[in-house]
Amino acid sequence: MYLKGIEIKGFKSFLDKTSITFPKGMISIVGPNGSGKSNILDAIRWVLGEQSIKSLRGDKLEDVIFSGTQTRNALGYCEVTLILDNEDKKVDIDYTELSIKRKAYRSGESQFFINGKKCRLKDIKEILLDTGIGKEGYSIISQGRVDEIINSTGNQKRALLEEASGITKYRYKKEEGEKNLASATENLERINDIFIEIE
Ligand code: ATP
Repeated sequence: MYLKGIEIKGFKSFLDKTSITFPKGMISIVGPNGSGKSNILDAIRWVLGEQSIKSLRGDKLEDVIFSGTQTRNALGYCEVTLILDNEDKKVDIDYTELSIKRKAYRSGESQFFINGKKCRLKDIKEILLDTGIGKEGYSIISQGRVDEIINSTGNQKRALLEEASGITKYRYKKEEGEKNLASATENLERINDIFIEIE
């Protein structure tokens, strides 16, 4: 699985719809200072569910939406779509391509889509488990991240290794299962209390 392309509209400095195709392998993005190189990485992290505006180099939610220039009006929304190659069926779906989109409005509303269908952020996190592509994955190493990894605690390093080795999905499913079990046990106890009251 690899990132095949990205479509950006209204995100930060990308007012007009911009499509970028990435070849397989190592990619470098070069350009003058302030031309929007880091904004592309911000856009990728944003689609993957980055909720911390600070880490997207903004102060408030709408800072990711094109804020206008002397000649162009600000936009009311932005949208970013990632196109992932799934030829290797890393993600267990029928399609050889996976598109993940996020759209956000100045009102603060955010919508997520998988292959054009509306979904929850949770669905995106689940579908990308063990691909290394998620927000917490190791596919985006931003400035300072290498130091962060070197200085991370044993548990944090283990989480990265687990993602790389494909265990995260099972740990996540186990935790979800435990939560469901706890809630079912609680419901059962409540039903038992009601039975006792009725008897
Ligand atoms: P450098 O090489 O200096 O790190 P860069 O190519 O990585 O620069 P970015 O940081 O991606 O550049 O882009 C900065 C530009 O994005 C600035 O010109 C800034 O005004 C613009 N920008 C950021 N947020 C918005 C926004 N919401 N609306 C419009 N323009 C924005």
